Amino acid sequence: MFLETRNLTKQFGGLAAVNNVNFSMEKGKINAIIGPNGAGKSTFFNLISGFHPPSSGQVIFKGRDITHLPPNKIAELGIARTFQTTNLFEQSTVLDNVIVGHRLRTKSNLFDAIFRTKRLKREEAQCKGKAMEVLEFVGLTNVANKMVANISQEEKKRVSIALALATNPEIVFLDEPAAGVNPDETEGLAMLIEKMVQNGITVCLIEHKMQMIMKLAHKIMVLNYGEKIAEGTPNEIKNNETVIKAYLGGSAIA
Ligand code: ADP
Ligand code: MG
Repeated sequence: MFLETRNLTKQFGGLAAVNNVNFSMEKGKINAIIGPNGAGKSTFFNLISGFHPPSSGQVIFKGRDITHLPPNKIAELGIARTFQTTNLFEQSTVLDNVIVGHRLRTKSNLFDAIFRTKRLKREEAQCKGKAMEVLEFVGLTNVANKMVANISQEEKKRVSIALALATNPEIVFLDEPAAGVNPDETEGLAMLIEKMVQNGITVCLIEHKMQMIMKLAHKIMVLNYGEKIAEGTPNEIKNNETVIKAYLGGSAIA
């Protein structure tokens, strides 16, 4: 399996935010995580990306146990993520925001920075090139020089995806990539996610927009109070009694 969690658990005090979750993701597929607010979805991402240490359990990526690696090491291995609330530098340009994302892949240090070495200049050019490449990929070339504060919510969502892509990831975790954008824009973001997969990237996304998930996902996991209550194809999830009861309060998924 490309990436899997084994009995992954996170306790915050007495609360099991993520409780014994076993989930596996196949390479080249779109995996989705759904569940009510507070179900533990974002925490699950935080555990995989190393932002929180799990209380117990394991994260295995390409056969390697990455459970206790720090976030930068996990990113270097090819795991990228976006955040639910975009964490961009509002007073910097779109391009500068994305350039920061590629720094992970460069070697320049303080010495290079102070003496403006050839390596630094070469790597700066490389970062800029990579940033332009991912901005083109996500369809933002035209706003590259705008300040983030002056672009739309949907464009900010694309910038955070570009940031993740700038690290050359093999798998990207998207935390509510279509939150707060209109239906047409949601459709556009769905197409972008499909394009990522066509380019060999594996995706795992958290989303509340059920139509989008049902159309995009190969596999869905449903979390409720930190526990996996169901897993399956969109059709299986749609017809799952437990899911309908727990998550949808008895009404069918549209
Ligand atoms: P979701 O993303 O599904 O809405 P979260 O993973 O954000 O849910 O939160 C799951 C539960 O864990 C919630 O009850 C939340 O209050 C709690 N929680 C999340 N992060 C922390 C934290 N850093 N400290 C304490 N409790 C947290
Ligand atoms: Mg969340």
